[in-house]
Amino acid sequence: MAATADETRVVEGVKTQLFIAGEWRDASSGETLDVEDPATGETIATVADATNADADAALQAATDAFATWRNVAPRDRADILRRAYDLINERTDELALLMTLEMGKPVSESKAEITYANNFFRWYSEEAVRINGRFTINETGKGRVLTLKQPIGPCLFITPWNFPLAMGTRKIGPALAAGCTCVVKPAKQTPLSMLALAQILEEAGLPGGVLNVLTASSSGSLMQPLIEDERTRKMSFTGSTPVGKTLIKQSSEQVLKVSMELGGNAPFLVFEDADLDAAVEGALLAKMRNGGEACTSANRFHVHESVAEAFAEKLAAKIGALKVGRGTEDGIQVGPLIDEAQRSKVAELVDDAVGKGARVLTGGSRVDGAGYFYAPTVLADVPDDADLLKEEIFGPVAPITTFATDAEAIAQANDTEYGLVSYVFTQDVNRAFEVIEALETGMIGFNQGMVSNAGAPFGGVKQSGFGREGGPEGMDEYLETKYVAMNVGLPPTAL
Ligand code: NAP
Repeated sequence: MAATADETRVVEGVKTQLFIAGEWRDASSGETLDVEDPATGETIATVADATNADADAALQAATDAFATWRNVAPRDRADILRRAYDLINERTDELALLMTLEMGKPVSESKAEITYANNFFRWYSEEAVRINGRFTINETGKGRVLTLKQPIGPCLFITPWNFPLAMGTRKIGPALAAGCTCVVKPAKQTPLSMLALAQILEEAGLPGGVLNVLTASSSGSLMQPLIEDERTRKMSFTGSTPVGKTLIKQSSEQVLKVSMELGGNAPFLVFEDADLDAAVEGALLAKMRNGGEACTSANRFHVHESVAEAFAEKLAAKIGALKVGRGTEDGIQVGPLIDEAQRSKVAELVDDAVGKGARVLTGGSRVDGAGYFYAPTVLADVPDDADLLKEEIFGPVAPITTFATDAEAIAQANDTEYGLVSYVFTQDVNRAFEVIEALETGMIGFNQGMVSNAGAPFGGVKQSGFGREGGPEGMDEYLETKYVAMNVGLPPTAL
């Protein structure tokens, strides 16, 4: 399929080299790797394939830059983030087209991601000037307690392909605001959005070396030496739980401070008193945003048996009507999956559930033709032993099961090693709080199908990871607390 003039322009506008110490350079080996459009399977760009020597240079650049960046006035750090925010806003249309070309989601969703991603730059540009320690009187009355908040140091960021920009800005925004420097490694499927972001930060006045970007085909061998290197003081990873476990083991080598934003298996609970239309709208958002390729995606729907049939019919009607196609075309609501491996995994999970007795209300198969499309799917009567209730689906598939009591709903929701997010639909506030307090997830959408918000702490419990991104908690991830025991003050007065 021939690229349009706009598509060619946005792709050619991206610098496809490595960004190290403020310079754009080829990989030291001269090697490159291809970036593919998942809607067509065609190569749209080639980017540099970093070597270990390049990675070492990037970490050294971040280390050198930290010595000065940590002492740059907070207002100046804030102003750079704010300028980047303004530039991203001006260029939303081209960034959205670029994102759609490498990741596949509809342009309207790419725009929504860019707004969300950019909100982290705005939020943390505002927070940069509000990094506070404290000063208190010791409980004995003698001496004083002083705490300082200081930037932790050079950071490694490893990000996934499903939100190519937002998973970066959630880390870069607070890190730069705090006075940290970083080396960022985006996913090999979607490096272009991160390279475009680096160009914007450069244009916004970010000094060389504060942010370095490595694109690479072999992330494991590239990143391990950096994770085990004492120059690195913090790692933040967003990706799958199996890779997260490997990185946690590697980080133990130097007791590295880490944040882990890992996989999810979100339950979506609909109680018998819920506003069913609102629940269906929430379900549509929680399931179909990003084509189901989101860690927050509702992975399984547990619905009270008295309303399950009505909920399933309404949801199937909405999901079955979604327009599937190349995300660059007008009116498209669901794009392709990222690659054939992901599509095969989704197909296997659906086939397993159907083989065990689930009923297909809509979809249930691949879409013929070029690209990695899978039809939006709703499955009813899904049996307890279906694999897709246990595994992260990461695709446009909504399995529905039923419960009879609140206790059963909670037990079903918590029956997973994951703990990222859950969704609760009920109009009874007392019931809502009982359920919310019993759910083992880091976040809960109460009568709403989306939780992501730059001002709120995003993150999971159990095997969904630890650490938070967004809000004041997101800034704490990049700050160390130093305590000074001060032998000052008047002696206490005796009673
Ligand atoms: P992934 O396979 O774990 O990859 C994530 C990143 O890690 C990519 O940049 C990847 O590089 C890199 N990587 C893979 N193996 C590595 C290794 N041994 N050492 C160092 N880096 C390594 O995950 P994904 O398939 O891209 O993303 C989907 C997963 O991310 C899902 O499980 C989803 O739930 C999770 N996720 C979580 C959140 C959250 O906030 N909790 C948000 C979004 C996504 P390559 O591209 O080169 O393989």
